[in-house]
Amino acid sequence: MARFIFVTGGVVSSLGKGLAGAALASLLQARGYKVRMRKLDPYINVDPGTMNPYEHGECYVTDDGAETDLDLGHYERFTGVASKQTDNITTGRIYQRVIRKERRGDYLGGTVQVIPHITNEIKNFATADLGDEDFVLVEIGGTVGDIESLPFMEAIRQLGNELRNNAIFIHLTLVPYLAAAGELKTKPTQHSVKELRSIGIQPDILLCRSERPIPEGLRAKIGQFCNVRKEAVIQALDVRTIYEVPLSYHNEGLDDAVLDAFGITDAPEPDLSTWEDIVDRSLNPDGEVNIAVVGKYIELRDAYKSLTESLIHGGIANKVKVNIDWIESEIFEKDEASVVDRLGSVHAILVPGGFGERGAEGKIKAAHYARTQKIPYFGICYGMQMAVIEGCRNLASMPNAGTSEFGNFDPNVVGLMTEWTKGNQTETRSEDGDLGGTMRLGSYPCNLLEGTKVREIYGKDVIHERHRHRYEVNIAYREALENVGYKFSGLSPHGDLPEIVEIPDHPWFIGVQFHPELKSKPFDPHPLFESFVKAALDKSRLV
Ligand code: GLN
Repeated sequence: MARFIFVTGGVVSSLGKGLAGAALASLLQARGYKVRMRKLDPYINVDPGTMNPYEHGECYVTDDGAETDLDLGHYERFTGVASKQTDNITTGRIYQRVIRKERRGDYLGGTVQVIPHITNEIKNFATADLGDEDFVLVEIGGTVGDIESLPFMEAIRQLGNELRNNAIFIHLTLVPYLAAAGELKTKPTQHSVKELRSIGIQPDILLCRSERPIPEGLRAKIGQFCNVRKEAVIQALDVRTIYEVPLSYHNEGLDDAVLDAFGITDAPEPDLSTWEDIVDRSLNPDGEVNIAVVGKYIELRDAYKSLTESLIHGGIANKVKVNIDWIESEIFEKDEASVVDRLGSVHAILVPGGFGERGAEGKIKAAHYARTQKIPYFGICYGMQMAVIEGCRNLASMPNAGTSEFGNFDPNVVGLMTEWTKGNQTETRSEDGDLGGTMRLGSYPCNLLEGTKVREIYGKDVIHERHRHRYEVNIAYREALENVGYKFSGLSPHGDLPEIVEIPDHPWFIGVQFHPELKSKPFDPHPLFESFVKAALDKSRLV
């Protein structure tokens, strides 16, 4: 039977619970254990798919097509274990299920209540669809004391009781430094634990985020006031790269404290060589490259979390530092000269995924500049669609080409596909479907054509990549574009959906309809990002 580790957060939000959990999972993995990670989100959206990235950061998509919280991206990047739909649940989905059951009459006329009906549904979710995992880490979103998260807290309290020695609670808090007093303060942590204990949860381990080392005496004090053993009060100091977190936690004794809390005495020593190598490569690069990311949500970096990490992974693979120059694409629309100003000296340009009209023309300008100036260009999803529109307008005699996503162009070279084939099945989406339900989501196979750059980069002829989009490049324009120097180098198995478009006569110009950034890992950088950063490096050596 799997052992459960519940991770809650206190004092303030944004302490990095997801990262903390992921790092702990990677440490347990390094000791040879099999892990799985889950997230319980207290908001009422059924999934984050319909949320603006400014609200909630990136929406992370799993192989099985679930739109989930970005923390699941951390989980995958640290453990390599592919997340599933069953690994992320929200209040909205829980209520949706309960209400559906109520309408069906499943509750046999009983009164449906938060306890036990909602909490039971949460417990079912936390424990469902597991295999032979040794440890299941369950992170509870939000901060202790939030009204919204109460049913989740109650559910894990009950689980702790039911699972007894097979469940522990880790609480992540903040120990702030007050400059005026010249002191680290433990009171917020004490209050947070008090709040947790008032709902019946006694943490086994406290993970204390702090800017400064927490002296032994202070740790003892925290332990005493919070009813936690001193050895289980772990300081979590800021580190130089997030990939140093597993090593840092290990040095502070987190994994030992976890094993101890479960009474495990025969755990193998961890093999941390992979993390040591990643940290070494990150902190001691042999050079650097400047890559422009031309997007729309650039003020909130969490909106491009996986993308940022994938570029870093590409840097790790090439042992170079990747400096990202975030550029709001709209500025290219307002000021023509800014294109050269901002892109003239970068070593590569990336246009990431996006939705809607705002900033689209600016992205098209970026693609144009990259193509004509022979600067490496990586177009992801929307970035590929914009590159295709640019090519149609400027090379293939379709000056009014566009996408039906924001208008009716002549022609729409990118448009809504309502039907396509997956395996032996036909999938459909309708133009007026729910926003949450009309996307091509999750992993799809793609055939790579022989003799193309992507085939060389991947080193295989069939790949599986994750999707999240409503619109497709219309295959009908393949010939027109191939006549002017493009190559449709990746296609869906039935050849009806263009998945990759490249320009063979360009140092590096690749547009992909999928999101490769969702599958890159620091220990297994995605081949496209590795190759793209290499192209940027080659470019940097030319200028
Ligand atoms: N807005 C585009 C579409 O829906 C691209 C989506 C994306 O970049 N993820 O097809």
